[in-house]
Amino acid sequence: MNPSQKWLSTILLTLIVSINSITGCTSTDTTDAVNSETNNNDNQEQTNDQDPLDITVSIMPQKYFVNKIGGDRVKVNVMVEPGVTPHTYEPKPQQLQALSEAEAYIAIGVPFEKVWMDRISQANPKMLTVDSTEGIERLTMMDHDHGHDHDDHHDHNEEEINLDPHIWLSPRLVKIQTQTIYETLVRLDPKHQETYQTNLNNFLQEIEELDGKIRKNLDNLEQRKFIVFHPAWGYFAKEYNLTQVPVEVGGQEPSAAELAELIKEAKKEDIRIIFAQPELSSQSAETLAKEINGEVLLISPLSENWSSNLLEVSQTFAKVLKEDNNK
Ligand code: ZN
Repeated sequence: MNPSQKWLSTILLTLIVSINSITGCTSTDTTDAVNSETNNNDNQEQTNDQDPLDITVSIMPQKYFVNKIGGDRVKVNVMVEPGVTPHTYEPKPQQLQALSEAEAYIAIGVPFEKVWMDRISQANPKMLTVDSTEGIERLTMMDHDHGHDHDDHHDHNEEEINLDPHIWLSPRLVKIQTQTIYETLVRLDPKHQETYQTNLNNFLQEIEELDGKIRKNLDNLEQRKFIVFHPAWGYFAKEYNLTQVPVEVGGQEPSAAELAELIKEAKKEDIRIIFAQPELSSQSAETLAKEINGEVLLISPLSENWSSNLLEVSQTFAKVLKEDNNK
């Protein structure tokens, strides 16, 4: 071999080796992987299409959200049953047991999760746990004494406990939660990504329209202050430029002095309706209503039919606040 022949053979050898390794790469890593994936998906599809994803959530409104995105591809279990509040709720042993079937738990940051999340995860280590508060900046839970500057004497832990969990009552924030739910379903079931995407788009459109209707109901009110027993409506109020005045103080009935202060405020503002919720008994709301010659009106933050419930609440607010202002 002369030097140029030697050079040529080296190149040829290198080429052959690289072609080999390329095709080798192609056949093992790509083609085979694609094949086995296709096979897997074919198998999965048969079971999956009859067998919906088992998703567990904390509260009823989340069931509405997951159903909107998942359609008939999901079966949703709710931990906090209707009529109960997530502030005091504790999971039943059979609910923890039922988690062994769940593919995912979608948390929303309600108080019982803090205490129970470890045990919920342990109930099914294979279950995906998803935090749907991700990307949402939470407000501090409001006290009726208007002083929210407890920060001085609260350490970090306590402050976290005092974050307002009611993020599902703002349509804008529900859009963010819905995105997280969509990503979760796609991760568990990528084959139906297109379906989930279409459902997501439809639901975002529904939220957009709902938001428009709520704004229309509330935009022109002069009286923008309302009194509510349990301050669940902080995000709603912020979104629609209303002022929530809670009766509860730190999750408890107010003291006599605190109640007297509220009565004074209600009279000054010509407020006649005290809002309360069906899930909580509210002695002080009744007392307050009697003192101002008004009445208690129930609105639920936990209704399963989220969309129509929020619309109804906005209609109720519009009516009540208009009347309050005409006194
Ligand atoms: Zn609450």
